[in-house]
Amino acid sequence: MAHDFQAGPRPPRQKVDVSALGLKCAQCQTPITELPFQPDPNRDVYCDNCNRARRQSFGPRDYSR
Ligand SMILES: [Zn+2]
Repeated sequence: MAHDFQAGPRPPRQKVDVSALGLKCAQCQTPITELPFQPDPNRDVYCDNCNRARRQSFGPRDYSR
C-alpha cells in the first residue's frame, strides 16, 4: 500500500536552481543556490534557517482556524 501517505516527513519538493541569479538571504546574506519555489524578483528571499525562524514568528497556530 501507499505507506508514505500523510506519514513521516514530507517528500522533498522540487528545488529550483537559482545559483545563476546570485541571490542572497535578505536577512543574513547567506548565498542562496536553490529554492523550493520560483524566485520572485520583487520579493525578498531567505535561506532555510531564516525561513524557518520567520515562519515560527508568524505564529504556529495555522491549524486553529
Ligand atoms: Zn538567512
